[in-house]
Amino acid sequence: MLKDKLGLVFGVANKRSIAWSIAQAWHQAGARLAFTYQGERLKANVEELVGTFGQDTPIYPCDVTRDEEILSVFENLKRDFGKLHLVLHSIAFAPREALEGRFVNTSREAFRIAHDVSAYSLLGIARAAQPLMTDGGSIVAMTYYGAEKVVPHYNVMGVAKASLEATVRYLAHDLGPDKIRVNAISAGPVNTLAARGISGFGEMLKYHADHAPLKRNVLPKELGDTGLYLASDMSSAVTGEVIYVDCGYNIMGM
Ligand code: NAP
Repeated sequence: MLKDKLGLVFGVANKRSIAWSIAQAWHQAGARLAFTYQGERLKANVEELVGTFGQDTPIYPCDVTRDEEILSVFENLKRDFGKLHLVLHSIAFAPREALEGRFVNTSREAFRIAHDVSAYSLLGIARAAQPLMTDGGSIVAMTYYGAEKVVPHYNVMGVAKASLEATVRYLAHDLGPDKIRVNAISAGPVNTLAARGISGFGEMLKYHADHAPLKRNVLPKELGDTGLYLASDMSSAVTGEVIYVDCGYNIMGM
């Protein structure tokens, strides 16, 4: 389904990362992929994981809060791949204290960091990707229901995800004439490194499973499958959307 497609994946920290589930689906469908990692701490982890895709899988360092690192990724990618069809943005961060206390106490700095890493980065990445997407492309970002409704403890991350979802729509409008589609997957809770930073995450998992129509939580493979749909021509008329993959949790009123 993705034969001859070239993709770039942001956000693999370890094998539990949602980015890894989607990257596996893209790889199995025939795409050739490159990955980024943030900081030397994660390099070995990412190298080991992506090594399973073969020796010709490039990995580049990228802290998305640094413009020069984003530009350097795309310069390297131009050298290694020449062009690009797919981008996965699976990155978010907020200072831990902002995910614990009352939302009203969120500091200016925590608000800035959450929005910079979790929302602005999609814009910076899309702008750098566009010149390489000469055949058109698909950009996929990860979001969560806390963008739309209040989820206790999700706090400033919910506000940053609302910004991310609006960014998806504005980018979809801007990049549509270049045949570049931009969509987000709103995933139900998954036990990952980032999720464990949210206080009460265990309770959140249980609550979702109890209240979702399907009476369970989403499986990583199911996020991979939706990522594959959004990357492939199966979704060729879909852009600017937020697609819920949450066992139906978001439809419930009570
Ligand atoms: P994860 O494995 O911890 O992935 C988060 C990634 O973001 C990590 O690779 C992390 O790298 C990276 N990151 C953070 N700050 C960065 C920066 N400044 N520059 C570059 N990379 C940075 O957790 P995940 O749950 O798979 O999260 C992936 C995406 O899915 C996020 O957007 C998250 O909000 C979204 N999502 C998750 C859930 C869930 O329940 N898990 C539900 C809905 C949506 P470091 O480890 O080095 O910081």
